[in-house]
Amino acid sequence: MIVILKPNTKKSSEEYQNLLKILSEFPNIETRVHDVQGAQQTLTEIYLIGQTATIALETLEELPGVDRVIRISEEYRILGRHQDDARMSSFEYNGITFSQDNLNIFAGLCAVDTREHVEQMLKACRENGLQCTRMGAYKPRTNPYSFQGHGAKCLPYVFELAGKYGIKVIAMEITHEGHVDEIRNALEQSGHATGVMLQIGTRNTQNFELLKTVGRQKMFPVLLKRGFGITLEESLNAAEYLASEGNTKIVFGLRGMKNNAGDPHRNLVDFAHVPVVKRLTRMPVCIDPSHSAGTRARAPDGLLDIFHITAQGVIAGANMILVDFHPDPGSALVDGAQALLLEELPHYVADIHIAREAYEKRCTRAKV
Ligand code: PEP
Ligand code: MN
Repeated sequence: MIVILKPNTKKSSEEYQNLLKILSEFPNIETRVHDVQGAQQTLTEIYLIGQTATIALETLEELPGVDRVIRISEEYRILGRHQDDARMSSFEYNGITFSQDNLNIFAGLCAVDTREHVEQMLKACRENGLQCTRMGAYKPRTNPYSFQGHGAKCLPYVFELAGKYGIKVIAMEITHEGHVDEIRNALEQSGHATGVMLQIGTRNTQNFELLKTVGRQKMFPVLLKRGFGITLEESLNAAEYLASEGNTKIVFGLRGMKNNAGDPHRNLVDFAHVPVVKRLTRMPVCIDPSHSAGTRARAPDGLLDIFHITAQGVIAGANMILVDFHPDPGSALVDGAQALLLEELPHYVADIHIAREAYEKRCTRAKV
């Protein structure tokens, strides 16, 4: 059960202390307190874990300081949508709203290679009205001899240039808890020139110790990619690991599944699951058309497969797009084969707007 307190309840208040005391007196119940920071107010939620079946909703709702109470099912206790659950499906970070109702485009480099390429990429983002990007500093590679990313040493110029071009959020994969400290330190050194969304890649979706550490910090929001060889339920539970440690600023990323049925794409595109994840949980949903398609193949209608599958995700209600671009894909050190060109960015953004408008019209029609 979740007991939601009246907005802006002070932890020092007598009302709050009394409430905690009453809740702690229920037998076989453990309480966990979560603070949810919204744009306007802070909400405190108290999770009652254990034998709650015999506790009536009304008993809790009558307690002083309580706004409302939700009985939750076993699945995705914190992130899930439960019966009569009107909790938020959005969060703010560094001036950008992430919500199940909007859309943010993160176009950028799969892997940082040179300062010049970073600058060209960020300049193109600004020219196309984008405030978010992706920049890989730590790259998990299948082959140990492949380029592993520049790591911490590229962070100072990436953050400085992001600030210069007005980029508010950079999606950046981390593969080890030490990377979070490196990013935090470099951001501080840059005078918080930009913000970072920590990305947990598909290979680490079930790295539970990493999830717990990242979940315990609340400075950075997290993009959790679906595991490419596990069930959707297992991946959603991985997101719940983050939330259970206290960080609920999570975007869930679809990036295709490893499966021969996906041939000739790198992965079988799974964007049909956009509305499913939105139905099961309150997380905004990201699509990654680059790692799904893995190729610059073009259909006879003139559109690249990456454009087509992006549109498929957007028209189904995707809230974030993580997509690889590169100023010179031939010299990219990672995933050049799937990178879009900077001169394709205006067309790509326009194409997304067409799909988004169609999605919004579809929603309006559904509400009539
Ligand atoms: C990436 O986004 O660069 C990446 C490695 O993605 P994934 O974890 O989905 O393979
Ligand atoms: Mn990549």
